[in-house]
Amino acid sequence: MQVETTQPNREMPEVPSYAMRVVDALEAAGHEAWVVGGWVRDALMGRPGHDVDVTCSSPWEETERVLRAAGIEVHQTGVAHGTVTAVVDGLPVETTTYRVEGAYSDRRHPDEVRFVTDVRQDLARRDFTVNAMAYHPRRGLLDPFGGERDLGLGVIRAVGEPRRRFEEDALRVLRAVRFACRLGFSIEPATQEALVACAGELDAMARERVGAELDGILASGRMAWALRHEFAVMAAAVPELAPMAGFDQRSPYHAYDVAEHTARVCAGVECACGGRPSQALRWAALLHDVAKPACFSLDASGRGHFFGHPEEGARVAGRVMGRLALPKSMTREAQALICLHDLPVRPVAASCRRMMSLLEAACPGRGRALAFALVDLKRADALAKAPACRGYAVELDAMAARVRAEVAAGCPLTVRELPVGGDDVIRERGLEPGPGVGLVLDALLAAVLAGELGHGREELLAELRMGE
Ligand code: ATP
Ligand code: MG
Repeated sequence: MQVETTQPNREMPEVPSYAMRVVDALEAAGHEAWVVGGWVRDALMGRPGHDVDVTCSSPWEETERVLRAAGIEVHQTGVAHGTVTAVVDGLPVETTTYRVEGAYSDRRHPDEVRFVTDVRQDLARRDFTVNAMAYHPRRGLLDPFGGERDLGLGVIRAVGEPRRRFEEDALRVLRAVRFACRLGFSIEPATQEALVACAGELDAMARERVGAELDGILASGRMAWALRHEFAVMAAAVPELAPMAGFDQRSPYHAYDVAEHTARVCAGVECACGGRPSQALRWAALLHDVAKPACFSLDASGRGHFFGHPEEGARVAGRVMGRLALPKSMTREAQALICLHDLPVRPVAASCRRMMSLLEAACPGRGRALAFALVDLKRADALAKAPACRGYAVELDAMAARVRAEVAAGCPLTVRELPVGGDDVIRERGLEPGPGVGLVLDALLAAVLAGELGHGREELLAELRMGE
């Protein structure tokens, strides 16, 4: 079959040779095969490095036979959708038969998958123009929907009629936002209108798929953009965010409503220390003030307060992140950061050690790493308040230096990390084994954290003897 393409000229990066082995083996057997999806999009943007997906005219059984005959390992990873995964030099190449999808009566799974013979039909079922291009090094770029133009314009545009495409599969609403964030694009107006109209359908989507898309939006580092430009979508995905919009804090400490403050904190943690924040920190930034509207009270002078919002926020975050099936360890870390985001900390040893030990108690083994994350969250939070509060950010730089010094000095954060143990207490104090031993160790740790005692073994043994 002949398909029209642009010239195979172009300054395209080379398709990696391991993927070309799959394409070439299929074509040598008389089938047609193209590279599709994310690799083509990213390569046109000069960002190769994406895994390579292949689409082909052969039915999956034939694809499997041809590739095996060419000495390629094949796994049946999604044969109901025509997908097998070839493994070449240890690298996977998802290889899928040209297909279209039938009706979506449940708005998330096509009722049927129909295999087709024309690659253009396969491209037409894809979500956005920039994702609906096929490429072959000898035949060039096949781009029936103007994906290359849209890459140039920097827009995410639905393939076909936007409303119908989002009604078929509401997850595309979040995918649109994720790609806009990741690529730094805007969303084309008709696509945007359909997006908002269909956002409510996200409610019916599988929670873990919504969670994965939100995690992807956070990983793009542009959640601030999503909150400012796509708040309705974000609130449809996480209804707990909805009350933040326009919520006036009625406080001299705050120059913005809770939603704009949160957007600023999300942007702030991206700048923190010039590094990539952890996903737990990103989730904490998004949800740190989620409970503010629920915890709001006004005092006699008409000033707003939010007593208990960090603890309540941590509870809400646990509920939200659990519902979205996000990893438990990341959820626990985000909760610890949210719970402690308003903890008063000063840039002195005792205060920093206390912060680290609280984090260690919440997330064993993670207290030190989380202390840096908490400083980053607190700095982003301070910088997103009223101008008068921003001076605290300078203190936070001193705090980060203090935390580094404490980590370097090997300060223990838990009883188990103390260089003395129960046996030492029993021997030096002449105690019977029992709860009293633990109390002595707790007191020793408290004295170490407060800076009243050093943490050398000899010093602690001497203290045990003296306390007798
Ligand atoms: P990345 O993997 O970098 O997030 P990608 O473009 O490879 O980006 P995938 O989710 O891996 O995205 O999907 C591969 C391709 O399959 C997409 O480029 C798109 O053409 C198509 N696709 C994926 N999900 C959908 C969907 N829900 N609706 C329509 N097409 C989709
Ligand atoms: Mg992909």
